[in-house]
Amino acid sequence: MFREVFFISFLLFCCACFCQEDINCGTEVSEKDKVFIQHFINEIKFRKQFQTPLDSIVPVKFHIVGYNNGADMIDSVSVFNELNSVNSFYSSAGIRFQHCGPIDYIQDSEYALFEKINDETLCDITDIVNVLNIYFVPRLYKISSGDRVNLCGYAYLTGVNLNRIVMKNSCSTNGSTLSHEIGHYFSLFHTHSSSNGAELVNGSNCTTAGDLFCDTPADPGLSSSTVTSSCIYVGNEQDANGDFYSPDVNNFMSYSRKSCRDFFSNEQLTRMNDYFVGYRNYLLCPFDIDSSLVSENLDFILYPNPSGSLINLIYVESNQLNADLYLTVHDLSGRLLFENTITTSFSLNVQNYCSGVYFITLSNQQQKLTKKYIKSG
Ligand SMILES: [Zn+2]
Repeated sequence: MFREVFFISFLLFCCACFCQEDINCGTEVSEKDKVFIQHFINEIKFRKQFQTPLDSIVPVKFHIVGYNNGADMIDSVSVFNELNSVNSFYSSAGIRFQHCGPIDYIQDSEYALFEKINDETLCDITDIVNVLNIYFVPRLYKISSGDRVNLCGYAYLTGVNLNRIVMKNSCSTNGSTLSHEIGHYFSLFHTHSSSNGAELVNGSNCTTAGDLFCDTPADPGLSSSTVTSSCIYVGNEQDANGDFYSPDVNNFMSYSRKSCRDFFSNEQLTRMNDYFVGYRNYLLCPFDIDSSLVSENLDFILYPNPSGSLINLIYVESNQLNADLYLTVHDLSGRLLFENTITTSFSLNVQNYCSGVYFITLSNQQQKLTKKYIKSG
């Protein structure tokens, strides 16, 4: 007991320094990511730039995770404020983030302590298709070499079914981590990335090494011990040529202090826009809401999910009990497997479906909502 009180007091006393030190980003660059992004860069070299829509909307969905009793859920007002701040940083990339439909609240202690490797057990079911799903969880970690490593957040660089960012609550509204993770989602590497080899200070290999940008200086990997609270770099590392690094402590994609990060370079902004227009162009909010019907929500529950033989669907918008509801089921390749008008509750026999992911869409004359269903073995 004494130990717990002491630990909690210590945490409260030292919260500021803990939050500052807790720098880990869990985004990983796989070999497939590297090849894909390099291929993408080569493509845009030849096509110059993609046509740039001035105000491209990226639909995002907040999933706020807490314990069974609702404890430790992040305040939705603060995450919307953070999204406004993200929008100000991304406006130069011609990208604007807009929340899609209602917030998804998940009260489940099993996911309050969130391990990265298990994200699919929750997110494969709760992700909204073709929308950037952002999860806010009380605790976030991964296991590395048998040790638990706390994470601030992570994203996936590629994958049309991995439109997913997970953020630890305490890092979610610090002004830079959310922009950092979204940067990964739009293909950016860390400025200190060495997955393509280390970038030299003289910039001679800037197109093939480091983060593959030439307007971000070589970065040895920053931390709060090499960047002061006034955002001055005080490290003395040298590159392979013996040149001293002069990194950008303000770049969002660095490991500088979070309070120092407020900048994307022009090449980073252009690349993100290219990636949005050329690759992540499938992003679309499935709520096709007529502005005159904005107060009405179309929602339904699927259960059990995953399931083996039968799924039940309940339509949960009671205002429209008499509305014509139309149900479709598509597989991953977009093949239509089922379509029919339905009543407010419905059971579908899926015994003959193969195991895998399906998209179930419910629509009325004004709105449409798609949810993912998993057929288990
Ligand atoms: Zn990162």
